[in-house]
Amino acid sequence: MLGARSLLGSLLALLLLGGGAIGLPASAVTAASTAGTTEQVSSKPKPDPRWVFYTKDKRRYTSPWFGGARRIMIPFGCTRAPYYSPDPRCKKDRGFHHGLDLAMPCGTRLWSDRYAWVVSGESLGPAYGETPLLLRNHKVGFDLVIGHVRKVYVDVGDRVRPGDLIARASDDGAPDGCHLHFERRAKNGGLDTAVRPREMLDLTAKRKQQQ
Ligand SMILES: [Zn+2]
Repeated sequence: MLGARSLLGSLLALLLLGGGAIGLPASAVTAASTAGTTEQVSSKPKPDPRWVFYTKDKRRYTSPWFGGARRIMIPFGCTRAPYYSPDPRCKKDRGFHHGLDLAMPCGTRLWSDRYAWVVSGESLGPAYGETPLLLRNHKVGFDLVIGHVRKVYVDVGDRVRPGDLIARASDDGAPDGCHLHFERRAKNGGLDTAVRPREMLDLTAKRKQQQ
């Protein structure tokens, strides 16, 4: 989840959670927000009650970028997810999602699958959480935004390589539960240079009988 309405969405979610309006017991809310230290290894994790899936695709995908097999929550592009301002590219006043969201339990491990430099993510703004990762590859020419993470294991100036543990998924800055926001931009490019990131995620659908 990420967009111009993210802050508003966060505030609304906080109000909802605080008021118990979505029917969650307080213990469930606490568990969801403090589960960042452990990782569920099950490929079928207990769903986060805050997850809402804005796609008909119910398959679970593995990727070199994250642990387990996960569902897409919000695809890249025009979406009926309510967090984004209407975008001229989209019909019915729908907004545009600049990344691809995959629902995963808080604490799920995230690895790099590319060679890249870790650069400062300060310019990204608060909608990606407090410590989003910005990875840059000068040679190929891309930036990657890894949003809503906690426990970042790399520092600005580090070079990451495929297989390096870089962070853990969280709900930091996300009203819709723990997930990975994966966004590909032009090198040093802004939000409007975001392109379909799916190929770089290298998603592989899990076969049904393996679930
Ligand atoms: Zn997102």
